[in-house]
Amino acid sequence: MTRRIIPALAMISLVAACSSPDSDSGGGEGYPDRNITIVVPFSAGGPTDTVTRMISEPMAKALGGEIVVQNVEGAGGTVAAGEVARAEPDGYTVLMHHIGMSTAPALYKNLGYEPLQDFATVGLVTEVPMTVVARPDLPPATLAELTAYVKANAGTVTLANAGIGAASHLCGLLYQAAAGVKVQEVPYQGTGPALTDLVGGQVDVMCDQTTNTTGQITAGKVKAYAVTTPSRVASLPEVPTTAEAGMPGLEVSVWHGLYVPAGTAADVVQKLSDALKTALADQAVIDQMAKLGTAPVSSSDATPEAHKAHLEEQINTWAKVIADAGVPAS
Ligand code: ASP
Repeated sequence: MTRRIIPALAMISLVAACSSPDSDSGGGEGYPDRNITIVVPFSAGGPTDTVTRMISEPMAKALGGEIVVQNVEGAGGTVAAGEVARAEPDGYTVLMHHIGMSTAPALYKNLGYEPLQDFATVGLVTEVPMTVVARPDLPPATLAELTAYVKANAGTVTLANAGIGAASHLCGLLYQAAAGVKVQEVPYQGTGPALTDLVGGQVDVMCDQTTNTTGQITAGKVKAYAVTTPSRVASLPEVPTTAEAGMPGLEVSVWHGLYVPAGTAADVVQKLSDALKTALADQAVIDQMAKLGTAPVSSSDATPEAHKAHLEEQINTWAKVIADAGVPAS
């Protein structure tokens, strides 16, 4: 991928791995002959849901079938991942997950699944910048002022996230480490409901993906302090980077990938990967993503092999970041 998660607290070398779908080829003849379900591990209306719904129609078209999107919320995406890990490995239950797939092993003692063993990777999808945003009437005007405000109002400023291991949770951890502050975290089942509460003023701050904050920022419904990428995001030209705003330690963006249960036939995985590549080359998808501050991955990254290598590297990276941050597994 061109842009990778770069937690400034740690840089771990890439552990390349070669993987292929787990089982023999064969089994994909006539696939699909019924609806495929893509499970989204967070609420409807959030970034993972948005990206899934963008690609599901062109993927279904490429496969010559139907795709249904199902939201299975809970525990930072781990409930859905566990369900898909235990599903029939027939290609009809697919998981869209994000960076949380790589952080969960370090954050949960009894995960109930093993990301590298219990899934076959289909391909990476996109990588999305994050934004530090606040309710519109929160007094601080800049990221530096926000940190001063959090310090001055110790324990009272609330920070929304989509559950332990969610991207918003990680971004919150990185913010607290970079700013040297502690905030009161408020977990939701996904960005959809969290953003609704931010706009409504029930929670103060959050750090979440541009896919869902861009519209609220441009409409003035939330206040934006920074984008968490090394360069500004084209769809939000006025918003400074975290480095420009004085916090270079806060750099994170959120990768997404598609998974099927381990044991799924290799030719089924290949069909899904090919359909993913077709969807990511669709001009309407490219345009929609650009408006929301992101872009599809290259076709060589929308492959099982590139996805598996990235997942391995990210599991190692985040295990170290999370250990260094002293976050205990729950
Ligand atoms: N963006 C969310 C997160 O913090 C999850 C979601 O609703 O997609 O991980």
